[in-house]
Amino acid sequence: MTKSFSDLTESAKVLVLRLQRGQTTLTDQHRRWFVDDPKAAKDAVFSDALGRWDALEQVFRCAQPSGCIWGPGKSCPEDAPVICHACLRQS
Ligand SMILES: [Zn+2]
Repeated sequence: MTKSFSDLTESAKVLVLRLQRGQTTLTDQHRRWFVDDPKAAKDAVFSDALGRWDALEQVFRCAQPSGCIWGPGKSCPEDAPVICHACLRQS
């Protein structure tokens, strides 16, 4: 059963907000990289950020084993360079 996000503990809420914000930033950086924007993050910085996002998502899964980070019934954006475990399982 998927818990509603309002049932999450405060620390899990902080985690999910960081994941949502992180995914948005990574998606933006990925888009910049794709068009050779000089403001795009360097490859090493970007892959490091991807790794940290992934580690954070694993911690979040201890509190919320199912459902997308964007909430029940939602899914990660298709152009995101990283997607959550729940969306990964569906793709
Ligand atoms: Zn998702």
